[in-house]
Amino acid sequence: MRKKIVAGNWKMNNGLAESQALITEVRGIIRDELRLDNVDVILFPTHYALPSCVRLLEGSGVFSGAQNCHQEKSGAYTGEVSASMIKSVGATHVIIGHSERRQYFGEDNEICNAKVRSAIEEGLMVLYCIGETLEERESNSHFDILKSQLINGLKEINAQQLNNIVIAYEPVWAIGTGKTATSEQAQEIHAFLREQLSAKYGDSIAQSVRILYGGSVKPDNAKDLFLQKDIDGGLIGGASLKARDFAEIVRAAQ
Ligand code: PEP
Repeated sequence: MRKKIVAGNWKMNNGLAESQALITEVRGIIRDELRLDNVDVILFPTHYALPSCVRLLEGSGVFSGAQNCHQEKSGAYTGEVSASMIKSVGATHVIIGHSERRQYFGEDNEICNAKVRSAIEEGLMVLYCIGETLEERESNSHFDILKSQLINGLKEINAQQLNNIVIAYEPVWAIGTGKTATSEQAQEIHAFLREQLSAKYGDSIAQSVRILYGGSVKPDNAKDLFLQKDIDGGLIGGASLKARDFAEIVRAAQ
């Protein structure tokens, strides 16, 4: 039985005061209304709000993570933050390979793989994102693209390290567009990804990997998505910026 995950990716939103207020509100709703015994909740604020996030979530059972990291440990990489720095503030998770990083910052599978390996070496849990564009889906090349993103991003990752990796399937055409993949479309891809993991790592390991769906998940479509056999929760963008909506998505995963 795989424990579900609901993760909130705040992207480049919220100043420090707003971040602290939202974290406090989410923490309050979770404490008063929700149980975390069958769902892991993770918040991904901006880098500079991360230390506050860790502090405000202490004792709540909710995890904190960063939206990206650099692949090197330290050095002359102005503006960048390494996995060990993320670890040093007490955060436990990091998102790697988000489509916005691929699209706007030129991150390809090779860079993503270097980042994944660096984060794993530091002992962080990785949410590794993959997803096809609309053109790739319409030209029916999405299975090949997804397989390549998955397998190349996990190059040199062994079965034991895979325990610390969660896959997030996020079709680019569904991110921030209000267009969600149907539950059947998402399930088809999740089953395909699990098959690919099974071919590489064996079936029992593949069955233990959590695969999240991301792309316009909202309180009203979350339940249906999370009921699918191979969908183990969601990576939530826009709806994670509203405490009540995010909490309702966590409720849908319980
Ligand atoms: C995301 O950014 O990971 C995401 C899924 O965004 P949204 O929920 O807004 O589509």
